[in-house]
Amino acid sequence: MQKTVIVGAGGVGNVVAHKCAQDAATFGEVWLVSRTLEKCDAIAADILASTGVTVKTACLDADNVAETVAFLKEVQPKVLLNIALPYQDLTLMDACLEAGVHYLDTANYEPLDDPHFEYKWQWDYQERFEKAGLTAILGSGFDPGVTNVFCAYALKHWFDEIETVDILDANAGDHGLPFATNFNPEINIREITADGRYWENGEWKTVPALSISREFDFPEIGPKDIYLLYHEELESLAKNLPGLKRIRFWMTFSQNYITHLKVLENIGMTSIEPINYEGKEVIPLQFLKEILPDPASLGPLTKGKTCIGCMITGRLKENGETATRFIYNICDHQTCFEEVKSQAISYTAGVPAMIGARQLMSGAWLRPGVWNLEQLDPDPFMDDLNAWGLPWHVLEVDHSLRP
Ligand code: NDP
Repeated sequence: MQKTVIVGAGGVGNVVAHKCAQDAATFGEVWLVSRTLEKCDAIAADILASTGVTVKTACLDADNVAETVAFLKEVQPKVLLNIALPYQDLTLMDACLEAGVHYLDTANYEPLDDPHFEYKWQWDYQERFEKAGLTAILGSGFDPGVTNVFCAYALKHWFDEIETVDILDANAGDHGLPFATNFNPEINIREITADGRYWENGEWKTVPALSISREFDFPEIGPKDIYLLYHEELESLAKNLPGLKRIRFWMTFSQNYITHLKVLENIGMTSIEPINYEGKEVIPLQFLKEILPDPASLGPLTKGKTCIGCMITGRLKENGETATRFIYNICDHQTCFEEVKSQAISYTAGVPAMIGARQLMSGAWLRPGVWNLEQLDPDPFMDDLNAWGLPWHVLEVDHSLRP
């Protein structure tokens, strides 16, 4: 029987485990392992109750390569889904290489003591995975992930050449709390407080955090303020989309969210510099994570929808004319919670991880080496988005977002 190992039992890991269990014919025996065994057991109990499928659990420290290799050699899964944190990417890639297991994750490597993230560290594994005959899929969440596949699909089916891409990420969900982040607060706040960056005419442009904003009228959600951020898929898409002139990433934030964030930043609570508190070393951002609401607890509270998509301008294959299309998904927080007991942010990240792993299990994406999603055939992934809970839609628009 085929076997699958999921590492990480947080908000996203919960969704991935539910979805893999729903497709037992593909994933076979599913293992959910993490640092805290009780979290795995609680998810497994919930899955057993809702689907009748038994998910096996174990305690594993993914920072420990030897321990992980021993575990993988014993279980012998075909694929490991890394749904822990970006800090574990390299140790899990090392363990997969040693144990002969295909690898997939949802976020690029980030050193714990350095908020600077880039694909370099993981792209450096290209030759080792190729030589081992193993496939590593990087960034198979929604953004990165589905957004990369949307671009690959547009290039395969609509445009000879893509000129500009604006990735737009709106969360119009309301949890009723004064301030909470939708996924891991430490990762989320590190991302938002970093400088904004976008790519234009072959070079990166840097702007202060949250200093560029627009209003955009999202389908089913309505007008929202969007802010330019750096996001990791910009790095691989700028490299892999031939002829691209500009790519940017935008996310919605309410004034209330930004005010809270500014205050936390101004008083030093978002810093990753250790401080000494009563003889103990404390990292302010990690302490803040402990006191903010656990994102997994927002599930039952959150109402409303998300809309994430790509506004893509290019030259149409059929007549060479310039056209702009917005390709997107709408997800409803409460519907997600009814299905897998998670809100839409975890759902939109977790379902694409399961879909990416499906392509490895079926063989469609087995290709030795290290790949971002736009480098692989988008078609089976796009079909699976419709089949497994994230249907996509396309709007013809008459102009791209203004420069
Ligand atoms: P959580 O913090 O809720 O969960 C992380 C899980 O990983 C926890 O169960 C944690 O264990 C476990 N973990 C941490 N360190 C280790 C370790 N050394 N060994 C084993 N397990 C470990 O995070 P989320 O579920 O919100 O996010 C998971 C990942 O998904 C992150 O990398 C995030 O960046 C990514 N993501 C990607 C998105 C996308 O669209 N591409 C969107 C949203 C998230 P413990 O419970 O003991 O702390």
